[in-house]
Amino acid sequence: MPEPFPDIKSAHSLVAKHVTKERWEKLADHKTATSGFTLAQAIACAVQFDNQHCGIYAGDWDSYKDFKDVFDPIIQEYHGISPDAVHTSDMDVEKIKGNINPEVPVHSVRIRVGRSIDGFGLSPGITKDQRVGVENLMKSAFGKLAGDLAGNYYPLTGMDEKVRQQLVDDHFLFMSGDRNLQVAGMERDWPEGRGIYHNAEKTFLVWVNEEDQLRIISMQSGGDVRAVFERLARGIKAVGDSVKAESGKDFMLDSKYGFVHSCPTNLGTGMRASVHVDLPGWTKEGLEALKKRCEELKVQPRGTRGESGGQTGITYDISNKHRLGYSEVELVQCMIDGVNTLYAEDVALQKKHGI
Ligand code: ADP
Ligand code: MG
Repeated sequence: MPEPFPDIKSAHSLVAKHVTKERWEKLADHKTATSGFTLAQAIACAVQFDNQHCGIYAGDWDSYKDFKDVFDPIIQEYHGISPDAVHTSDMDVEKIKGNINPEVPVHSVRIRVGRSIDGFGLSPGITKDQRVGVENLMKSAFGKLAGDLAGNYYPLTGMDEKVRQQLVDDHFLFMSGDRNLQVAGMERDWPEGRGIYHNAEKTFLVWVNEEDQLRIISMQSGGDVRAVFERLARGIKAVGDSVKAESGKDFMLDSKYGFVHSCPTNLGTGMRASVHVDLPGWTKEGLEALKKRCEELKVQPRGTRGESGGQTGITYDISNKHRLGYSEVELVQCMIDGVNTLYAEDVALQKKHGI
């Protein structure tokens, strides 16, 4: 007997729209092979919370295939792609035109991608053994990184509390406590198997077993997006080569959906290229106006304390909005152009408001 059709609290979510009674009855009893994940686990956030836009996560690569009747229409609608769309990747920094203009008050640039290693589950479904397996594999793989990418791995288990808090405050490390991630199953066995790798300068970092198995990050102070992108491209390749040499495994790469992530909103590039930038004029104009303008420019505003951490003062995290259907180069270009435009408009808004 399948579980009864759930009461989906997020009534306007993509889950509510696409998890029909018919599809539920067909899929509710199924468990995936890699991590024994179910459709009920996948949609837990949409069922429990009333504020989800998407509301679904994958527990392994199998989830996207076994539950495709649900995932495919959600992914197509969210990303605005056609059923026969294919994804292409392009990390060639030489194709990027210009940079953040020198007068723009940017504090720092950060670009991250998510990557998942084939054969292990994704965070919502990954078994305890698989999670430790990913961490052990990465401990060896990190040892092979050289030059400016060379660094050390710091497991969360046993990390000094002051050190941990400082890494969070300095925007280098993730933290626990995001309700979505908890309900999606991503904080099981916390903090075991989680940790952070970084080089001495903290310009190249890798998060292990947070929302994705790996988040590969390049960041630095100032506004040089090109330099950050160039380092990221080298870093992704070095990590991928090292994982392959160590285990024979590749990153999960789907021809339609690009790099596989636990959250379908990250499919494709899995890339978020952001700057922390001061926008005093837009702050006076109001957050709703800023959000609307960002939508037009295909960028997204966040607070500077991370997605769920909130906004403070006049500083915003502005990043590319899209992940799938555009190459990495296109998305970085869109962010650079968007930030330059927002700042030019900010100067006019400062005059308007007498700042
Ligand atoms: P994601 O999940 O995309 O990696 P979050 O919004 O969860 O990003 O933020 C993760 C951390 O990265 C937070 O501490 C945030 O302040 C930091 N961060 C994001 N963009 C920048 C940036 N341009 N400069 C410095 N730190 C950043
Ligand atoms: Mg996050």
